[in-house]
Amino acid sequence: MSPKKITRPLDLYVRVSRVGGREGDSFISPELQEEKCRALAKARGLEVGQVFIDLDRSGGKMDRPEFKKMLARIESGVSGGVIVARIDRFARTLIGGLSAIEDIEKAGGVVLTADGEFDSSTATGELVLSIMLSLAQFELRRISEQWEDAKEKARARGIHIGAARAGYVRQEDGRLAEHSEYIEAVKQAFALRARGGSWKETADLLSAAGVPTSKSGGAARPWTRQATRNVIQNIAYREDEGGPIPVWQWKKAQPKKGEARVRGEGHVLGAGLVRCSVCGAAMHKSSNGARYQILRCDTSGGGHPTISYETARDYICSLAFAHVGPMRRSRPGDDESERKALRLAVEEAEAEFEQMREMLGVAPPADSRPSMGLTDAKAALAEFEAAADVPLGLGDFLTPVGVREEFEKMAVPEQRRVLRSIINRVVLSPGRRGDPGDRIEVEFTDGSRWPAEQGEVPVVTS
Ligand SMILES: [Zn+2]
Repeated sequence: MSPKKITRPLDLYVRVSRVGGREGDSFISPELQEEKCRALAKARGLEVGQVFIDLDRSGGKMDRPEFKKMLARIESGVSGGVIVARIDRFARTLIGGLSAIEDIEKAGGVVLTADGEFDSSTATGELVLSIMLSLAQFELRRISEQWEDAKEKARARGIHIGAARAGYVRQEDGRLAEHSEYIEAVKQAFALRARGGSWKETADLLSAAGVPTSKSGGAARPWTRQATRNVIQNIAYREDEGGPIPVWQWKKAQPKKGEARVRGEGHVLGAGLVRCSVCGAAMHKSSNGARYQILRCDTSGGGHPTISYETARDYICSLAFAHVGPMRRSRPGDDESERKALRLAVEEAEAEFEQMREMLGVAPPADSRPSMGLTDAKAALAEFEAAADVPLGLGDFLTPVGVREEFEKMAVPEQRRVLRSIINRVVLSPGRRGDPGDRIEVEFTDGSRWPAEQGEVPVVTS
């Protein structure tokens, strides 16, 4: 092996780690990372190309758009490779970092670290890389095998692996037993879902009953929609699997086809925005023949309201946009309870990960439940915060008519996001024809209601 001659400029790659708002021990500011890389280039007499910065938000498997761009420049021969401050800037794990380096090598580039730990342009550096890569592969396999082995042994002793699921407690012998009070709330949660209750409603039910999540170590916690969904989708609650929930009810409680991962059904009034005033269930869009679509609840029997979907949509959207003006003056913060719940979920997933590591003496591998749970929790929080970062913005420069025009151009999920940022819920009462306004009550996110609770027309007394 001979040293590679570096003839093209090298790009700089900076990764900023901002998981849960905390900076770990290995945090180096992006400015400092860049400065260190430039210092190395200068010392080695190398030309610097572009700087690529990835914001590592999810903390798990990184989505690295800038890394991909940097790689593309190497592949197309524009750049000769990359300089990073340290190997761990490529990924959170050595194995991840090494595989990133392997990608760059395959694309024909060299990798230099500013701390001098690594330089793949030299013969020694190449050798070190190939050794490290095979060690990493070996390590990965070993961890996986140890993990499986440790789990198998624990199971053989009759021990439940992982935290007790909601509604259960772990006994001293490691087996699970139903918690007399919480299991009832879990049963109610399944029943509510089976009646068409939304994820948010079901989460609220579990929170109100004080049911600890599987990860909260027995403490009451606010439930996230995602945690709720994990319970409802857990097959262990089903009667034929030894659980308390009848199979038919478990099936009915499952996410509906087209119901998005965390929130929302496939239309703008979805996600439980509109409620039945009689039974409180979320109202769904269903087609009554292909031409005439209606909103209805899932409760059978007469007396529950229905309304033409188009009528309801037009009316509710009009109310929403008429309210945008007043809202600008008192726009509330984001859904703090959801944010808090998501943050707790991340902390708990971290705790579970650590607990499993201690219990079994092996770090859970990336594809194990604790690892994936942690990754999911972090991703959900990042997703929430990313969505919360986007300002409503529309009312700032558009008239209500203009807002409506912009709104109609948006994709449904975006429309739903906008609508939900204005309206908390709509309750529909039974009735026929006439002005839909007579049957619709709206609660806005700023706490006000329509129709206003106190009539604006003064009551005349004689
Ligand atoms: Zn109903």
